[in-house]
Amino acid sequence: MQPPNSLVIETHDLAKSYNGIHALRSLNLRVPKHSIFGFLGPNGAGKTTTIKLLLGLARPTAGSASILGYDVVKDSLEIRKRVGYLAQDPRYYEHMTARQILRYTAHFFFRGPQDKIEERIDETLTLVGMDDKADRLVKGFSGGERQRLGIAQAQINHPDLLILDEPAASLDPQGRHDVLEVMERLREHTTIFYSTHILSDVQRVSDMVAILQHGQLVAQASIEQLLASSGTTIYTLTLRGDASAIQTQVAAQPWVSAIQVMPGDDLTTWQVTVTDETAAEERLLRLVLADERVYVREFGRKKYDLENVFLGLTGGQGHGK
Ligand code: ADP
Repeated sequence: MQPPNSLVIETHDLAKSYNGIHALRSLNLRVPKHSIFGFLGPNGAGKTTTIKLLLGLARPTAGSASILGYDVVKDSLEIRKRVGYLAQDPRYYEHMTARQILRYTAHFFFRGPQDKIEERIDETLTLVGMDDKADRLVKGFSGGERQRLGIAQAQINHPDLLILDEPAASLDPQGRHDVLEVMERLREHTTIFYSTHILSDVQRVSDMVAILQHGQLVAQASIEQLLASSGTTIYTLTLRGDASAIQTQVAAQPWVSAIQVMPGDDLTTWQVTVTDETAAEERLLRLVLADERVYVREFGRKKYDLENVFLGLTGGQGHGK
């Protein structure tokens, strides 16, 4: 449990229904300061709804939420001063340059001294890697450049929290790479809460993840915890001969949690789930080889990654890569 002041976003049984349809049910999120927090879920899971509630753009049906200690319903003005937001599909005046757009944004949102605005615009352009495109018209920008400009806009007033709705979803691999790199770079300046349906993005930049499905949280943890909690390394052995005696012996080992046996005509395949990889590495194959009634045809190991954990938690619902 984190002390309350280290949390940037905290929600308590936050819920939203639209005409009786539950878009979000009883959400309890805890987003720590300086994390890059991936909010992962398939389309329709309730991610945008959550973001709208956090920004005070929609009212919760039940529950409550606070950002930086401010209530999302009562203090939404205070929140908007401190939070930068990038919507899913940012729109721009196409005939303006990146610098002009940032100047326009700064006019409304920059709260530092007015004579520092140009300096701040330059800093922000550097932060998102767009110095060389500052004076080009947005009209010709790629998807990745548009998203980076959007992050620059959201970042102009030194926000304590950046909320990004699917920042990389519609981008090609290069654009996605550039946006994720900018997010990494911003880590030292702010906390980033971003939604995505793309698992590999989460694995690449986040240190914390919450997985949402059908408006409900199915997991919330650091990436390491999530991977460790799956606790699963599986060894596969393909055997010929009479494996029954050695099967009993392997199953009795304290580091073996399960053996799944797939018998065949001639060959038997085992999937051995272990809790202690070191012990398994030292002893599993030796143990089986010591039994002269069986011959080992194949031996392999599979470590579960975030994708397996995600599929396990969401029951295999589709997601992008
Ligand atoms: P995500 O961002 O994860 O794709 P959303 O939050 O947009 O999911 O949507 C969650 C659910 O709520 C979906 O079933 C969607 O159809 C529904 N929903 C979202 N906004 C509205 C709305 N304004 N009116 C009615 N239903 C909505």
